[in-house]
Amino acid sequence: MHFLLIGSLILASALPVAAEARVKNLILMIADGWGYNQIQALNYWQGVEQQSYERYETAIAVSTYSWDTLQSDRLGYNPAAAWSDFKYVLRKPTDSAAAATALACGVKTYDNAISVSPDSVRLETILERAEKAGKSTGVVTSVPFSHATSAAFAAHNVKRDDFIGIAYEMLERSGCEVIMGAGHPFYNDDNILIADNAKHDYRYIGWDLWERALKGEVGGDMDGDGDVDRWTLVQSKSEFRRLTVGDTPERALGIAQVHETLQCNRAGRPEPNDPQPPFTVPFNDGVPTLTDMTRAALNILDEDPDGLFLMVEGGAVDWANHRNQLGRMMEELSDFNSAVAAVEDWVNKRSNWDETLLIVTGDHETGYLWGPGSGEPANFEPLKYNGKYKMPQFHYYSDKHTNSLVPLFAKGAGSELLKLAANKNDPIRGAYLDNTDVGKAMFKLLESR
Ligand SMILES: [Zn+2]
Repeated sequence: MHFLLIGSLILASALPVAAEARVKNLILMIADGWGYNQIQALNYWQGVEQQSYERYETAIAVSTYSWDTLQSDRLGYNPAAAWSDFKYVLRKPTDSAAAATALACGVKTYDNAISVSPDSVRLETILERAEKAGKSTGVVTSVPFSHATSAAFAAHNVKRDDFIGIAYEMLERSGCEVIMGAGHPFYNDDNILIADNAKHDYRYIGWDLWERALKGEVGGDMDGDGDVDRWTLVQSKSEFRRLTVGDTPERALGIAQVHETLQCNRAGRPEPNDPQPPFTVPFNDGVPTLTDMTRAALNILDEDPDGLFLMVEGGAVDWANHRNQLGRMMEELSDFNSAVAAVEDWVNKRSNWDETLLIVTGDHETGYLWGPGSGEPANFEPLKYNGKYKMPQFHYYSDKHTNSLVPLFAKGAGSELLKLAANKNDPIRGAYLDNTDVGKAMFKLLESR
């Protein structure tokens, strides 16, 4: 413990302050469970050299291990070991709760923790800090809104599975203006309304909150002025799309008409490692895309002269990787990439890169995706290109998370601070920093305004 404490103090003081940093708008986009090869796979399918974010001036790597990893391995991530032992990154990887807490709060914690410390003490999140600075804030995801990643920005809980407790805090106690995701109690994963009331599944929001949300009776005093600020509930694709332009409600709670994922869980899923291409099974028709939600969120939040904080999660990238379904993963990453493009478009039209910082990253890799023939002792085969709109040759070597470094791309105000903080070196991925350093850098950049 002593060693760790000293280590984190050194890291904190090693973060340089960017002199010109002035971050009015901070947008953090997290592809849950992505990695270098996931991006490569989609690039091969699309027949493109790179995604737009791969060309950002700040392109570094991030270590993702949790406090739990450190209990068994003091280093957390050892670059030399990671590339000399194929199995090294499979040991004790982080979960999404600890990884999101590291990004949201800049603190290592245990797996399952939602923005509480290893001693279960509440941690301030970057979203809460943005609220204190007077900004409008929101979280958007392609999986249930009360799931780990979005939860860690707007709630605190000793257990990520306490979805109803988390939903209660997000909706009744947080200062957010926008919360959007899946988790609808009345619909299945194919966007079909479940007629039998007894089969409605309230696990992600709870019966009481849902009933009150339908009546427009959910929402606490978000700005401390003594008045309650109620959520306007939106559900259908057309309702989400209507929010992308023009006048908007004060607070929007968007629950898409699917149970767990916008698209990833729909019928017709392939077997693990089956090369079923993306976009072969028709999409759920009645739900928004992550891109629609992102546009809607920005349109709601950008009225505030103090600026905004928005977290966008491509949550089902992880779900597809867990099931080793590369085609579904490509669909999810494709939507996430379109959401990044929508943010770039917003910055170019409604803001500018001198006042806005966009960070595009992941929370950890999932699936250990490499080319065929990879394995022990240290054989890392690349994916094999088969032509545009053809599945590359690939193999998933795990159905779990890994400790692999993940990429981070940043553009705009203060992005050079992240590059300066990446003072560790990986022989393959190059300069990297820890996920807690990303959180700490975001706090520093909001303060330095
Ligand atoms: Zn995750």
